[in-house]
Amino acid sequence: MLDVTSFACPEAHIASVEPDEAVMYFATDALAAQARRFVDGFAGEVSYAVKANPAREVLEGVLGAGIRAFDVASPDEMHKVRRVSREAALHYNNPVRSVREIAVGKEMGVGSWSVDALSELAKLGPAVRDAEEVSVRFKLPVKGAHYDFGAKFGATPQAAVALLQAVQAAGYRPALTFHPGTQCHAPEAWESYIAAAADIARAAGVCVERLNVGGGFAAQRSAQAPDLEEVFDRIFRCTQAVFASPPKLVCEPGRALVAESYTLATRVKALRAEGEVFLNDGLYGGLAEWRDMSASTRVRVLGHKGAPRGAPSKAFKVFGPTCDSLDCLPDPVCLPADLKEGDYVLFAGMGAYSMAIATGFNGYGIGSVVRVQRV
Ligand SMILES: *Cc1c(COP(=O)(O)O)cnc(C)c1O
Repeated sequence: MLDVTSFACPEAHIASVEPDEAVMYFATDALAAQARRFVDGFAGEVSYAVKANPAREVLEGVLGAGIRAFDVASPDEMHKVRRVSREAALHYNNPVRSVREIAVGKEMGVGSWSVDALSELAKLGPAVRDAEEVSVRFKLPVKGAHYDFGAKFGATPQAAVALLQAVQAAGYRPALTFHPGTQCHAPEAWESYIAAAADIARAAGVCVERLNVGGGFAAQRSAQAPDLEEVFDRIFRCTQAVFASPPKLVCEPGRALVAESYTLATRVKALRAEGEVFLNDGLYGGLAEWRDMSASTRVRVLGHKGAPRGAPSKAFKVFGPTCDSLDCLPDPVCLPADLKEGDYVLFAGMGAYSMAIATGFNGYGIGSVVRVQRV
């Protein structure tokens, strides 16, 4: 889907092409810079959570930046990774798997699995390779993320103790894992989980070789960028403090790794009643996640020939292009008051959970992906 021609920036493409369909702009350099922040700053292995954006250019960019492990959840995601790397480590961290999916995972060389129930451990069967790891996924009722990842997966700490012992007895390398919830702004959430992990290992009498602290790292959605390095530092220090023999660390970011490398450009189709704007993309397309997330304020508007609009902003109610009345952003968006039909509304930091979940409903969706030097 990625166009072969590249442009300096979204403004340059818009001025020359005047696209009438929604466009995603992708910058390899932005992806590499963010990937390097994780590789350099996080004191352990970085694994990319493929579901955030499985585009080939992302998988290649992540590999190019030195990431050698991928968090996958389905045979399709494993195939996508294998298309760009034969050697990359696969972490199959969807704790509910069919027997057929397990067989595919074993065939593709999965090195690490997560489980949150004895029934799923039994389904895995015996370890087929020496180094095969099973991480017990547990959950806690902690706050700080945008929505709760413990609502679907994760054993209680008490159940995790028995599960960890069973993992060791089955001949797998024992590990622990959790996910604090996506777009998590609170380093305390990781600290609570890490302390609980140490308690679980102690109660089980099992020495865990690795602790996978999940994804959940926040992407920038307002003027203030999240301080990832502070979170990395707190994770490292807490692990050293609470474990008698600290495990190696793994993290599996999706959102925070890929969000910055894409900008979504939409076009104003019409201005209707006072303060109501219709865009050529919405909840069924690249803005799908806005149904569950608060609005990002990283929005800019271009008028004629890509020139920025500069009038003071006012709040607009934003509709998408489809004929479904649900296709309306839940929160108002601040846009320049001199907004005109034919203008472009650009959303920065849109690489995660956008293309991956966009549909072509009603004949709309993301028309093309264009490579740019900077987003
Ligand atoms: C979705 C997911 C991730 C990535 O989460 P982000 O919030 O995008 O960083 C990591 N690990 C697991 C198991 C996941 O399901």
